[in-house]
Amino acid sequence: ARPPAPVNEPVKSYAPGSPERASLRAEVARMGAEHREILPYINGKTVETGRTVSVVEPHDHQHELATVHNARKEDVEAAIQGALDARHDWSRMAWTDRAAVFLKAAELLAGPFRDRMNASTMLGQSKNVFQAEIDAAAEMVDFFRFNVHFMRGLYEDQPVSDPGIWNRTEYRGLEGFVFAVSPFNFTSIAANLCAAPAMMGNTVVWKPAPTQMLSAQVIVELFEEAGLPPGVIQMLPGEGADVGDPVIASEHLAGLHFTGSTKTFQHLWHTVGSNLDHYRTYPRIVGETGGKDFIVAHESANADAVATAIVRGSFEYQGQKCSAASRVYLPESLWPAVKESLLSQLDEITVGAPQDFSNFVNAVIDDRAFAKITGYIDRAQKASGVDVIAGGTYSDETGYFVDPTVLVAEDPRYQTMEEEIFGPVASVYVAPKSQSFDEVLELVDSTSPYALTGAVFAQDRRVIAHAADKLAEAAGNFYINDKPTGAVVGQQPFGGARGSGTNDKAGSMLNLLRWTSLRSIKENF
Ligand code: GLU
Repeated sequence: ARPPAPVNEPVKSYAPGSPERASLRAEVARMGAEHREILPYINGKTVETGRTVSVVEPHDHQHELATVHNARKEDVEAAIQGALDARHDWSRMAWTDRAAVFLKAAELLAGPFRDRMNASTMLGQSKNVFQAEIDAAAEMVDFFRFNVHFMRGLYEDQPVSDPGIWNRTEYRGLEGFVFAVSPFNFTSIAANLCAAPAMMGNTVVWKPAPTQMLSAQVIVELFEEAGLPPGVIQMLPGEGADVGDPVIASEHLAGLHFTGSTKTFQHLWHTVGSNLDHYRTYPRIVGETGGKDFIVAHESANADAVATAIVRGSFEYQGQKCSAASRVYLPESLWPAVKESLLSQLDEITVGAPQDFSNFVNAVIDDRAFAKITGYIDRAQKASGVDVIAGGTYSDETGYFVDPTVLVAEDPRYQTMEEEIFGPVASVYVAPKSQSFDEVLELVDSTSPYALTGAVFAQDRRVIAHAADKLAEAAGNFYINDKPTGAVVGQQPFGGARGSGTNDKAGSMLNLLRWTSLRSIKENF
């Protein structure tokens, strides 16, 4: 029997006047004032490469937080070799010893590392305190604890044996190393892309996003403090062409654990394909990519609940979540009430730096994101049949700030209804009376190539059941009367299919299964 599941790490509120708020504030100030040097981490040691780039605060781009040394060709080779050298001892270590490292990391993060992980995420990735806490603290702790729990269940699963024989299953790490490629938007995802394969006995070469380097360094410090042996996780800062392509081309690549853009994932998969002849083993490919996540409301829906879901689902973390709600479908009868509630909620929102804990919206990640998002806004302002009813304004004078923007599009296939923007832009389509709810559901299903998250709002149970059936393939995480973001480890395993990835559900046994290669043993007595 499996022991009971661990409980989720409680999310702290950082209420005004609380000691936790004072302590986090002090850490944010300390980290903001220091200037870090972030180096590749290979075989438990840092290496100065001299190929430096700077890390700035997205909300104050003249403020440099750190200098990063990007990996050179020889560092990439050393990291791969180091991972291969470390593999023997790590993969043969009792799984309980490997698990203990991650349980200790969870304890450290729930305690003394919490402020540091949150502060680095707030400053380096421009997250507000609550968005940092649910990610860099709570979700990361949950990933470690729940994955250890799932891992135990897996390892204890043994086959039956007839009298006179003894069958057993050995769960081995993959033969080679796993390449983890992580995005900027979730610190916890970056940590888990490394931790899940490592727990299962693999060694990992990790390329963090260049825009996540401050918290990436804190993750390395956390693993080191938790006692992770040298060589198990190698961290290589750099651009895709310098790091990604040579790592993928190694004959020892045994797996790719990816979260990021669809384009990059497809490029890496193609590169795996073109190297197929010389791998020792078929690399396992696990990826979570884009989304164009929907909210669809029926006329029986509660208008306030829909408006709140748009505000939180579309604008938390500036809409920079694969799960962000970015296309909304509503019947004409519901729209006036939703619009009123939406606009009044948006009135309360302030945009600014995360050092001011009251700001709900902070900066988007960098100049490229800013240009892409504001390009969509500018085109929408000029397009006929598109009405910008909120936001539409932006400034990159001190930081990359884009105000929460709501567009109403007459054409349900207008570009902002179809394409992933990855910014604080929600597009609304108001369905005329002549269009049935079924027709709207068909639009939802067919408009985007993605299938990550989505939400249906309705009070009528028959409608809910019908929508869930019609949209069965449209979202790997489906929400009923809730925003389509904020999946909790152990409660809503996360991932989607179609253009959104391989749907191996982060924070679940399904994901861990991809990082093990089984040996079945039969012994005759
Ligand atoms: N798991 C996150 C959520 O449910 C989204 C992760 C992502 O953006 O990749 O909101």
